[in-house]
Amino acid sequence: MMTREVFRNGSNAVSRIHIERIARKQYYRCYYCDHPMIRHRHIEGQATPRDAMTKDHYIPRAWGGPTVPKNIVAACCQCNTLRGDMDAEAFYNLMQKWFKRRPYLWVRWHQLSEEELYLLKLHCIQVHERQLRGKARRHIEFAYRHISFVFRYQHRLRYIV
Ligand SMILES: [Zn+2]
Repeated sequence: MMTREVFRNGSNAVSRIHIERIARKQYYRCYYCDHPMIRHRHIEGQATPRDAMTKDHYIPRAWGGPTVPKNIVAACCQCNTLRGDMDAEAFYNLMQKWFKRRPYLWVRWHQLSEEELYLLKLHCIQVHERQLRGKARRHIEFAYRHISFVFRYQHRLRYIV
């Protein structure tokens, strides 16, 4: 069972201490690309560096993932942006596939051009959408099976209820 890390005052927010502990567990390397991350102070009007350490929700916020320490991993800004609300495992596997087929992508991961990043993001979105379609199809199939079951045994269910 995972231990629940909370503040001494009972708050469950992710503090500087928590992200520090999470990053130390990962040896200050990105969860997805395994590149070392830099600490940065956000400067108004300036873009966050690509290799800057950011808090990444393992279960995305878009899918109801809470901002609690056990749902946070340390990832670089680039991986965090690329991933979006994709499934973490699927994104990790996709990146492994990229790096295996094109090792230069990993070598100059934080020096990629805008075009290259755009294409990778596009690929990410395609894979994500395919997964979502599969998930939706499975849900619909399940629903239809359930409905057909209900119709088939409607007359019997009537006696039960
Ligand atoms: Zn990364």
